[in-house]
Amino acid sequence: MNNDAQKAAFSTRAIHYGYDSSSANGSLTPPIYMTSTFAFDSVEQGGERFAGEAEGPIYSRLGNPTQSVLETRLADLEEGEAALAMASGMGAISATFWTLLKAGDHVVADKTLYGCTFAFLEHGLKKFGVDVSYVDCCDLSAVKNALTDQTRIVYFESPVNPTLRVMDIAAISQLVHNYSNDIKVIVDNTYCTPALQRPLTLGADLVVHSATKYLGGHGDLIAGAVVGDEETVTRIRLEGLKDMTGAVISPMTAFLIQRGLKTLELRMERHSQSALAIARWLAEQPEIEQVYYPGLESSPFYQLAQQQMTLPGGMIAFELKGGLEKGKQFMNNLKMIKRAVSLGDAETLCQHPASMTHSTYTPEERMAHDISEGLVRISVGLEDVKDIQADLSQALSVC
Ligand SMILES: *Cc1c(COP(=O)(O)O)cnc(C)c1O
Repeated sequence: MNNDAQKAAFSTRAIHYGYDSSSANGSLTPPIYMTSTFAFDSVEQGGERFAGEAEGPIYSRLGNPTQSVLETRLADLEEGEAALAMASGMGAISATFWTLLKAGDHVVADKTLYGCTFAFLEHGLKKFGVDVSYVDCCDLSAVKNALTDQTRIVYFESPVNPTLRVMDIAAISQLVHNYSNDIKVIVDNTYCTPALQRPLTLGADLVVHSATKYLGGHGDLIAGAVVGDEETVTRIRLEGLKDMTGAVISPMTAFLIQRGLKTLELRMERHSQSALAIARWLAEQPEIEQVYYPGLESSPFYQLAQQQMTLPGGMIAFELKGGLEKGKQFMNNLKMIKRAVSLGDAETLCQHPASMTHSTYTPEERMAHDISEGLVRISVGLEDVKDIQADLSQALSVC
Protein backbone atom coordinates (compact mmCIF):
# COMPACT_ATOMS: atom_id res chain seq x y z
CA MET A 1 0.00 0.00 0.00
CA ASN A 2 1.41 3.33 -0.97
CA ASN A 3 0.08 5.37 1.89
CA ASP A 4 2.87 7.98 1.87
CA ALA A 5 0.24 10.32 0.45
CA GLN A 6 -1.58 10.16 3.81
CA LYS A 7 -0.58 13.68 4.79
CA ALA A 8 -1.35 14.99 1.33
CA ALA A 9 -4.39 17.08 0.47
CA PHE A 10 -7.81 15.68 -0.43
CA SER A 11 -7.52 15.61 -4.23
CA THR A 12 -4.06 13.98 -4.03
CA ARG A 13 -5.34 11.26 -1.70
CA ALA A 14 -8.42 10.76 -3.90
CA ILE A 15 -6.02 9.83 -6.71
CA HIS A 16 -3.27 7.90 -4.88
CA TYR A 17 -4.23 6.65 -1.45
CA GLY A 18 -4.32 2.92 -0.77
CA TYR A 19 -2.74 1.65 -4.00
CA ASP A 20 0.88 0.89 -4.88
CA SER A 21 1.44 0.25 -8.58
CA SER A 22 4.53 -1.88 -7.80
CA SER A 23 2.15 -4.43 -6.27
CA ALA A 24 0.56 -4.97 -9.72
CA ASN A 25 3.30 -5.06 -12.39
CA GLY A 26 3.41 -1.26 -12.43
CA SER A 27 -0.19 -0.98 -13.61
CA LEU A 28 -1.07 2.72 -13.23
CA THR A 29 -4.68 1.94 -12.36
CA PRO A 30 -5.57 -0.86 -9.92
CA PRO A 31 -6.35 -4.15 -11.69
CA ILE A 32 -9.96 -5.35 -11.73
CA TYR A 33 -10.15 -8.74 -10.00
CA MET A 34 -13.15 -10.28 -11.75
CA THR A 35 -13.20 -13.46 -9.70
CA SER A 36 -15.70 -15.12 -7.42
CA THR A 37 -13.28 -17.12 -5.30
CA PHE A 38 -9.60 -17.27 -4.32
CA ALA A 39 -7.41 -20.38 -4.31
CA PHE A 40 -5.42 -21.20 -1.16
CA ASP A 41 -1.82 -22.48 -1.19
CA SER A 42 -2.74 -25.08 1.42
CA VAL A 43 -5.68 -26.10 3.60
CA GLU A 44 -3.76 -24.54 6.51
CA GLN A 45 -3.70 -21.17 4.76
CA GLY A 46 -7.41 -21.47 4.01
CA GLY A 47 -8.09 -22.38 7.63
CA GLU A 48 -6.15 -19.36 8.92
CA ARG A 49 -8.05 -16.99 6.64
CA PHE A 50 -11.41 -18.38 7.70
CA ALA A 51 -10.38 -18.10 11.34
CA GLY A 52 -9.37 -14.46 10.76
CA GLU A 53 -5.77 -15.29 11.78
CA ALA A 54 -4.29 -14.40 8.40
CA GLU A 55 -5.03 -11.62 5.95
CA GLY A 56 -6.09 -12.50 2.43
CA PRO A 57 -9.13 -12.92 0.24
CA ILE A 58 -11.48 -15.93 0.50
CA TYR A 59 -14.59 -15.32 -1.59
CA SER A 60 -15.80 -12.09 -3.23
CA ARG A 61 -18.96 -11.74 -1.12
CA LEU A 62 -16.60 -11.21 1.85
CA GLY A 63 -14.22 -8.90 0.02
CA ASN A 64 -12.14 -8.54 -3.14
CA PRO A 65 -8.83 -6.69 -3.80
CA THR A 66 -10.47 -4.19 -6.21
CA GLN A 67 -13.13 -3.47 -3.60
CA SER A 68 -10.42 -3.13 -0.91
CA VAL A 69 -8.60 -0.35 -2.77
CA LEU A 70 -11.86 1.58 -3.00
CA GLU A 71 -12.66 0.98 0.69
CA THR A 72 -9.21 2.07 1.88
CA ARG A 73 -9.44 5.25 -0.17
CA LEU A 74 -12.99 6.09 0.82
CA ALA A 75 -12.26 5.57 4.53
CA ASP A 76 -9.30 7.92 4.22
CA LEU A 77 -11.31 10.61 2.41
CA GLU A 78 -14.11 10.47 5.02
CA GLU A 79 -11.48 10.38 7.81
CA GLY A 80 -12.88 7.11 9.16
CA GLU A 81 -11.00 3.96 10.19
CA ALA A 82 -12.70 1.65 7.69
CA ALA A 83 -15.20 1.55 4.85
CA LEU A 84 -17.40 -1.09 3.27
CA ALA A 85 -18.47 -0.69 -0.37
CA MET A 86 -21.77 -2.28 -1.37
CA ALA A 87 -24.06 -2.93 -4.32
CA SER A 88 -26.26 0.16 -3.80
CA GLY A 89 -26.95 2.97 -1.39
CA MET A 90 -29.98 1.04 -0.14
CA GLY A 91 -27.75 -2.05 0.23
CA ALA A 92 -25.38 -0.07 2.49
CA ILE A 93 -28.20 1.56 4.48
CA SER A 94 -30.18 -1.66 5.01
CA ALA A 95 -27.07 -3.74 5.89
CA THR A 96 -26.08 -1.10 8.45
CA PHE A 97 -29.51 -1.02 10.11
CA TRP A 98 -29.90 -4.83 10.06
CA THR A 99 -26.52 -5.18 11.80
CA LEU A 100 -27.08 -2.59 14.53
CA LEU A 101 -30.72 -3.30 15.43
CA LYS A 102 -32.86 -6.02 16.98
CA ALA A 103 -36.59 -6.28 17.70
CA GLY A 104 -37.64 -3.85 20.44
CA ASP A 105 -35.03 -1.22 19.48
CA HIS A 106 -35.92 2.35 18.55
CA VAL A 107 -34.69 4.64 15.76
CA VAL A 108 -34.97 8.43 15.59
CA ALA A 109 -34.93 9.71 11.99
CA ASP A 110 -35.44 13.11 10.40
CA LYS A 111 -38.95 13.78 9.08
CA THR A 112 -37.61 14.03 5.52
CA LEU A 113 -35.68 11.09 4.11
CA TYR A 114 -34.76 9.67 0.72
CA GLY A 115 -37.98 7.85 -0.32
CA CYS A 116 -36.63 4.28 -0.20
CA THR A 117 -34.90 4.90 3.15
CA PHE A 118 -38.28 6.01 4.53
CA ALA A 119 -39.95 2.91 3.04
CA PHE A 120 -37.24 0.65 4.51
CA LEU A 121 -37.80 2.08 8.01
CA GLU A 122 -41.56 2.41 7.80
CA HIS A 123 -42.53 -0.75 5.89
CA GLY A 124 -39.39 -2.84 6.42
CA LEU A 125 -37.97 -2.48 9.93
CA LYS A 126 -41.32 -1.79 11.64
CA LYS A 127 -42.52 -5.23 10.45
CA PHE A 128 -39.68 -6.77 12.47
CA GLY A 129 -40.51 -4.97 15.71
CA VAL A 130 -38.30 -1.88 15.41
CA ASP A 131 -39.97 1.37 16.45
CA VAL A 132 -39.21 4.55 14.46
CA SER A 133 -39.88 8.19 15.44
CA TYR A 134 -39.66 10.93 12.80
CA VAL A 135 -38.68 14.38 14.06
CA ASP A 136 -37.39 17.64 12.61
CA CYS A 137 -33.66 17.18 13.26
CA CYS A 138 -33.12 20.95 12.80
CA ASP A 139 -34.88 21.23 16.17
CA LEU A 140 -32.40 19.96 18.78
CA SER A 141 -34.98 19.78 21.54
CA ALA A 142 -37.20 17.62 19.32
CA VAL A 143 -34.28 15.21 18.83
CA LYS A 144 -33.60 15.15 22.57
CA ASN A 145 -37.24 14.55 23.46
CA ALA A 146 -37.46 11.63 21.03
CA LEU A 147 -34.55 9.68 22.61
CA THR A 148 -35.46 6.70 24.82
CA ASP A 149 -33.57 3.90 26.58
CA GLN A 150 -34.31 1.75 23.52
CA THR A 151 -32.91 4.22 20.97
CA ARG A 152 -29.93 2.75 19.10
CA ILE A 153 -29.72 4.93 15.95
CA VAL A 154 -30.25 8.62 15.12
CA TYR A 155 -30.36 8.99 11.34
CA PHE A 156 -30.52 11.97 9.00
CA GLU A 157 -29.32 13.43 5.69
CA SER A 158 -27.83 16.92 5.33
CA PRO A 159 -28.71 18.86 3.30
CA VAL A 160 -32.04 17.10 2.91
CA ASN A 161 -34.34 16.66 -0.08
CA PRO A 162 -36.26 18.67 -1.29
CA THR A 163 -36.00 21.94 0.66
CA LEU A 164 -32.28 21.55 1.45
CA ARG A 165 -32.67 21.93 5.21
CA VAL A 166 -29.23 21.64 6.86
CA MET A 167 -28.73 19.73 10.13
CA ASP A 168 -26.15 20.75 12.75
CA ILE A 169 -24.13 17.51 12.71
CA ALA A 170 -21.79 18.48 15.60
CA ALA A 171 -24.63 19.65 17.87
CA ILE A 172 -26.81 16.59 17.20
CA SER A 173 -23.88 14.19 17.73
CA GLN A 174 -22.94 15.84 21.02
CA LEU A 175 -26.50 15.88 22.29
CA VAL A 176 -27.07 12.20 21.41
CA HIS A 177 -23.74 11.00 22.87
CA ASN A 178 -24.34 12.98 26.05
CA TYR A 179 -27.57 11.02 26.38
CA SER A 180 -25.98 7.64 25.67
CA ASN A 181 -22.84 6.27 24.05
CA ASP A 182 -24.85 3.24 22.90
CA ILE A 183 -26.61 5.31 20.21
CA LYS A 184 -25.02 5.58 16.77
CA VAL A 185 -25.43 8.86 14.89
CA ILE A 186 -25.56 7.97 11.19
CA VAL A 187 -25.39 10.63 8.46
CA ASP A 188 -26.29 10.05 4.81
CA ASN A 189 -23.55 12.14 3.14
CA THR A 190 -24.66 11.48 -0.46
CA TYR A 191 -25.44 15.13 -1.29
CA CYS A 192 -22.09 16.49 -0.08
CA THR A 193 -19.54 13.68 -0.43
CA PRO A 194 -16.38 13.91 1.71
CA ALA A 195 -15.13 16.63 -0.65
CA LEU A 196 -17.60 19.07 0.94
CA GLN A 197 -18.46 17.63 4.36
CA ARG A 198 -16.93 15.03 6.69
CA PRO A 199 -19.51 14.10 9.35
CA LEU A 200 -17.13 11.75 11.23
CA THR A 201 -14.90 14.73 12.07
CA LEU A 202 -17.99 16.50 13.48
CA GLY A 203 -18.82 13.67 15.87
CA ALA A 204 -21.06 11.33 13.83
CA ASP A 205 -20.40 7.58 14.23
CA LEU A 206 -21.09 6.34 10.72
CA VAL A 207 -21.52 7.82 7.25
CA VAL A 208 -23.56 6.13 4.52
CA HIS A 209 -23.47 6.91 0.81
CA SER A 210 -25.27 6.29 -2.39
CA ALA A 211 -22.09 6.06 -4.50
CA THR A 212 -24.46 6.02 -7.50
CA LYS A 213 -24.52 9.81 -7.28
CA TYR A 214 -21.44 12.10 -6.96
CA LEU A 215 -18.87 9.46 -5.92
CA GLY A 216 -19.34 7.52 -9.17
CA GLY A 217 -20.29 10.79 -10.76
CA HIS A 218 -21.05 9.64 -14.30
CA GLY A 219 -24.53 8.10 -14.11
CA ASP A 220 -23.22 4.69 -15.13
CA LEU A 221 -23.44 2.58 -11.98
CA ILE A 222 -25.39 1.76 -8.80
CA ALA A 223 -23.38 1.40 -5.57
CA GLY A 224 -23.19 2.39 -1.92
CA ALA A 225 -20.87 2.51 1.07
CA VAL A 226 -20.68 2.83 4.83
CA VAL A 227 -17.70 4.39 6.64
CA GLY A 228 -16.84 4.47 10.35
CA ASP A 229 -14.82 2.70 13.05
CA GLU A 230 -13.11 -0.58 12.20
CA GLU A 231 -15.09 -2.70 14.67
CA THR A 232 -18.54 -1.56 13.50
CA VAL A 233 -17.66 -1.70 9.80
CA THR A 234 -16.31 -5.26 10.24
CA ARG A 235 -19.56 -6.24 11.97
CA ILE A 236 -21.57 -4.78 9.07
CA ARG A 237 -19.39 -6.69 6.59
CA LEU A 238 -19.80 -10.01 8.41
CA GLU A 239 -23.47 -9.67 9.38
CA GLY A 240 -25.28 -7.08 7.25
CA LEU A 241 -23.42 -7.77 4.01
CA LYS A 242 -22.25 -11.40 4.17
CA ASP A 243 -25.33 -12.93 5.77
CA MET A 244 -28.28 -10.53 5.86
CA THR A 245 -28.37 -8.74 2.49
CA GLY A 246 -25.64 -10.23 0.27
CA ALA A 247 -25.59 -6.82 -1.46
CA VAL A 248 -22.02 -7.18 -2.70
CA ILE A 249 -20.45 -4.66 -5.10
CA SER A 250 -19.09 -5.89 -8.44
CA PRO A 251 -15.29 -5.41 -8.85
CA MET A 252 -16.06 -3.59 -12.13
CA THR A 253 -18.29 -1.12 -10.27
CA ALA A 254 -15.68 -0.67 -7.51
CA PHE A 255 -13.16 0.20 -10.24
CA LEU A 256 -15.50 2.77 -11.82
CA ILE A 257 -16.00 4.50 -8.45
CA GLN A 258 -12.20 4.70 -7.99
CA ARG A 259 -12.10 6.39 -11.38
CA GLY A 260 -14.84 8.80 -10.31
CA LEU A 261 -13.02 9.66 -7.07
CA LYS A 262 -10.02 10.95 -9.00
CA THR A 263 -12.05 13.95 -10.17
CA LEU A 264 -14.38 14.22 -7.17
CA GLU A 265 -13.05 17.45 -5.69
CA LEU A 266 -12.76 19.07 -9.10
CA ARG A 267 -16.32 18.08 -9.97
CA MET A 268 -17.78 19.18 -6.62
CA GLU A 269 -16.15 22.60 -7.02
CA ARG A 270 -17.66 23.01 -10.49
CA HIS A 271 -21.08 21.66 -9.43
CA SER A 272 -21.11 24.13 -6.51
CA GLN A 273 -19.88 27.09 -8.52
CA SER A 274 -22.49 26.55 -11.25
CA ALA A 275 -25.28 25.81 -8.76
CA LEU A 276 -24.59 29.06 -6.88
CA ALA A 277 -24.75 31.05 -10.12
CA ILE A 278 -27.97 29.28 -11.19
CA ALA A 279 -29.56 29.70 -7.73
CA ARG A 280 -28.81 33.45 -7.73
CA TRP A 281 -30.24 33.79 -11.23
CA LEU A 282 -33.36 31.74 -10.39
CA ALA A 283 -34.00 33.90 -7.31
CA GLU A 284 -34.44 36.93 -9.63
CA GLN A 285 -36.91 35.30 -12.04
CA PRO A 286 -40.53 36.53 -11.76
CA GLU A 287 -41.93 33.04 -12.52
CA ILE A 288 -40.33 31.71 -9.35
CA GLU A 289 -41.79 31.93 -5.87
CA GLN A 290 -38.79 30.69 -3.86
CA VAL A 291 -35.37 29.12 -4.31
CA TYR A 292 -33.91 26.63 -1.83
CA TYR A 293 -30.11 26.58 -1.82
CA PRO A 294 -27.89 26.71 1.30
CA GLY A 295 -25.35 28.87 -0.56
CA LEU A 296 -27.79 31.78 -0.91
CA GLU A 297 -27.33 34.37 1.82
CA SER A 298 -31.11 34.56 2.11
CA SER A 299 -31.28 30.87 3.11
CA PRO A 300 -32.01 30.25 6.82
CA PHE A 301 -29.30 27.57 6.65
CA TYR A 302 -26.61 29.80 5.12
CA GLN A 303 -24.51 30.25 8.31
CA LEU A 304 -24.62 26.59 9.31
CA ALA A 305 -23.77 25.49 5.76
CA GLN A 306 -20.78 27.87 5.76
CA GLN A 307 -19.58 26.27 9.01
CA GLN A 308 -19.88 22.59 8.23
CA MET A 309 -19.62 22.40 4.43
CA THR A 310 -16.66 23.66 2.40
CA LEU A 311 -18.99 24.53 -0.53
CA PRO A 312 -22.81 24.55 -0.83
CA GLY A 313 -23.07 21.67 -3.33
CA GLY A 314 -24.80 21.06 -6.65
CA MET A 315 -28.45 20.55 -5.66
CA ILE A 316 -31.11 23.26 -5.95
CA ALA A 317 -34.87 23.18 -5.48
CA PHE A 318 -37.35 25.93 -6.35
CA GLU A 319 -41.05 26.71 -6.26
CA LEU A 320 -42.62 27.64 -9.56
CA LYS A 321 -45.64 29.97 -9.43
CA GLY A 322 -48.72 28.31 -10.92
CA GLY A 323 -48.46 24.84 -9.36
CA LEU A 324 -48.86 21.50 -11.07
CA GLU A 325 -49.69 22.66 -14.62
CA LYS A 326 -46.85 25.20 -14.75
CA GLY A 327 -44.50 22.59 -13.34
CA LYS A 328 -45.44 20.10 -16.08
CA GLN A 329 -45.10 22.75 -18.81
CA PHE A 330 -41.71 23.85 -17.54
CA MET A 331 -40.46 20.27 -17.40
CA ASN A 332 -41.69 19.41 -20.88
CA ASN A 333 -40.11 22.61 -22.27
CA LEU A 334 -36.60 21.58 -21.21
CA LYS A 335 -34.32 20.74 -24.12
CA MET A 336 -30.73 19.99 -23.06
CA ILE A 337 -31.56 19.32 -19.40
CA LYS A 338 -32.80 15.78 -18.80
CA ARG A 339 -36.08 14.93 -17.07
CA ALA A 340 -34.74 12.28 -14.69
CA VAL A 341 -34.42 11.31 -11.05
CA SER A 342 -30.99 10.62 -9.51
CA LEU A 343 -28.33 13.28 -9.12
CA GLY A 344 -24.62 14.00 -9.17
CA ASP A 345 -23.99 13.28 -12.84
CA ALA A 346 -22.18 15.30 -15.51
CA GLU A 347 -25.61 15.86 -17.11
CA THR A 348 -27.96 18.37 -15.49
CA LEU A 349 -31.02 16.44 -14.28
CA CYS A 350 -34.37 17.95 -13.40
CA GLN A 351 -37.30 16.39 -11.60
CA HIS A 352 -40.79 17.64 -10.70
CA PRO A 353 -42.02 15.49 -7.81
CA ALA A 354 -45.73 16.39 -8.20
CA SER A 355 -45.88 15.02 -11.76
CA MET A 356 -43.11 12.40 -11.51
CA THR A 357 -41.97 10.65 -8.28
CA HIS A 358 -45.00 11.71 -6.20
CA SER A 359 -47.66 11.74 -8.95
CA THR A 360 -49.63 8.93 -7.31
CA TYR A 361 -49.96 10.94 -4.05
CA THR A 362 -52.93 13.27 -3.51
CA PRO A 363 -52.05 16.99 -3.24
CA GLU A 364 -52.73 16.69 0.53
CA GLU A 365 -50.32 13.77 0.85
CA ARG A 366 -47.71 15.72 -1.10
CA MET A 367 -48.09 18.69 1.26
CA ALA A 368 -47.57 16.37 4.24
CA HIS A 369 -44.24 15.35 2.71
CA ASP A 370 -43.13 18.95 2.03
CA ILE A 371 -43.75 18.50 -1.72
CA SER A 372 -45.63 21.48 -3.12
CA GLU A 373 -47.23 21.33 -6.59
CA GLY A 374 -44.71 23.67 -8.23
CA LEU A 375 -41.58 22.24 -6.61
CA VAL A 376 -38.77 21.47 -9.06
CA ARG A 377 -35.40 19.91 -8.16
CA ILE A 378 -32.25 20.38 -10.22
CA SER A 379 -29.00 18.46 -10.02
CA VAL A 380 -26.74 21.03 -11.65
CA GLY A 381 -24.35 19.23 -13.99
CA LEU A 382 -20.94 19.97 -15.44
CA GLU A 383 -22.06 21.54 -18.71
CA ASP A 384 -21.15 25.20 -19.28
CA VAL A 385 -23.25 27.20 -16.82
CA LYS A 386 -24.38 29.55 -19.61
CA ASP A 387 -25.98 26.64 -21.47
CA ILE A 388 -27.71 25.35 -18.32
CA GLN A 389 -29.09 28.82 -17.61
CA ALA A 390 -30.16 29.30 -21.25
CA ASP A 391 -32.18 26.07 -21.20
CA LEU A 392 -33.85 26.97 -17.88
CA SER A 393 -34.56 30.45 -19.22
CA GLN A 394 -36.26 29.29 -22.43
CA ALA A 395 -38.25 26.66 -20.48
CA LEU A 396 -39.47 29.33 -18.02
CA SER A 397 -40.32 31.87 -20.72
CA VAL A 398 -42.73 29.56 -22.59
CA CYS A 399 -44.59 28.79 -19.35
C1 LIG B 1 -30.08 7.73 -4.20
C2 LIG B 1 -30.02 7.90 -2.73
C3 LIG B 1 -30.05 6.80 -1.86
C4 LIG B 1 -30.19 5.39 -2.35
O1 LIG B 1 -29.08 4.97 -3.09
P1 LIG B 1 -29.14 3.87 -4.29
O2 LIG B 1 -27.72 3.83 -4.74
O3 LIG B 1 -30.11 4.36 -5.31
O4 LIG B 1 -29.59 2.60 -3.66
C5 LIG B 1 -29.95 7.06 -0.50
N1 LIG B 1 -29.86 8.31 -0.01
C6 LIG B 1 -29.84 9.39 -0.81
C7 LIG B 1 -29.74 10.76 -0.21
C8 LIG B 1 -29.93 9.23 -2.20
O5 LIG B 1 -29.93 10.31 -3.00
